Amino acid sequence: MAQKRILITGAAGFLGSHLCDRFIQEGFYVIGMDNLITGNLSNIEHLFQNKNFEFYHHDVTKFVFVSGELDYILHFASPASPIDYMKIPIQTLKVSSLGTHNILGLARVKKARVLVASTSEVYGDPLIHPQPESYYGNVNPIGVRGCYDEAKRFMEALTMAYHRIHGLETRIVRIFNTYGPKMRLNDGRVLPTFISQALRGEDLTMYGDGSQTRSFCYVDDLIEGIVRLLFSDYHLPVNIGNPEEITIKEFGEEILKLTGSKSKLISLPPMQDDPKQRKPDISLAKKILNWEPKISRQEGLKKTLAYFQSLPKERLYQEKEFKSLEKWNK
Ligand code: UDP
Repeated sequence: MAQKRILITGAAGFLGSHLCDRFIQEGFYVIGMDNLITGNLSNIEHLFQNKNFEFYHHDVTKFVFVSGELDYILHFASPASPIDYMKIPIQTLKVSSLGTHNILGLARVKKARVLVASTSEVYGDPLIHPQPESYYGNVNPIGVRGCYDEAKRFMEALTMAYHRIHGLETRIVRIFNTYGPKMRLNDGRVLPTFISQALRGEDLTMYGDGSQTRSFCYVDDLIEGIVRLLFSDYHLPVNIGNPEEITIKEFGEEILKLTGSKSKLISLPPMQDDPKQRKPDISLAKKILNWEPKISRQEGLKKTLAYFQSLPKERLYQEKEFKSLEKWNK
């Protein structure tokens, strides 16, 4: 049987790099693509010697050309942390709109099955809790998160249109908060921010009073869910995430305990349109993919802390530059 070939956009990012590893392990020929705006080659440099891997330094919002056959495409290119997409909203809008258009066009030409990475942000600041796939969301299109939320919603609409009009084989995963090794230290997300602040002995910066909730999924669980969805025959959106919910304040306290840090939690002004609660309803994934997360937060946080501690210590300091939130949060 011929070796299967897969294109992964956003290959040098957090999730993209884990997907590259997984599909190499599965025996695929993997073509990674990234423009390296938020991705980092160090996440995939171990693959450069692998004969089943090649890398294109390319911006997916420009015409995409890949020679040879493609069986699958995973579209994971996009800034995904609030600080990133507030800093580069235009690129964020382009990658999920123009970029998705290019990817769907390529999938059509190659007769490939395509899976696009959507997000729990399509639910906005949700008025229904937990969030099932049938919920249409509560999104502010013109707020600071609008560039991400609306681009991802457009991406879903375009993907469905290609499915309906061209009969393309499409899959849509709605990803909830995910963490683990290879997350950037400086992307402003709560987990790397809190862990690196604790390791530097600085106070942990909580936005608002910390009563907002999130539900954190360990990356290995997420990747397993994505692989199962790709190989399923279900084309409508599926939530993948861990339903174990926690307030940001409790989460900060957990990080302080885990790291043994003497730092304190301090409260900063709230972020605009910050969802007050978020928790996936994963009944659909359980039913059609026989999937649910297996790794507890305690276990996942230990592994993630070990990764951050394994990095050269200077990186904890070098990667601090994002902290100019006030400038973007208006
Ligand atoms: N958060 C925080 N302090 C930080 C970074 C984030 O209190 O330094 C909060 C943020 O306001 C949000 C939650 O943590 O309520 C998760 O934020 P993150 O940026 O990780 O992702 P989001 O779920 O908002 O996309």
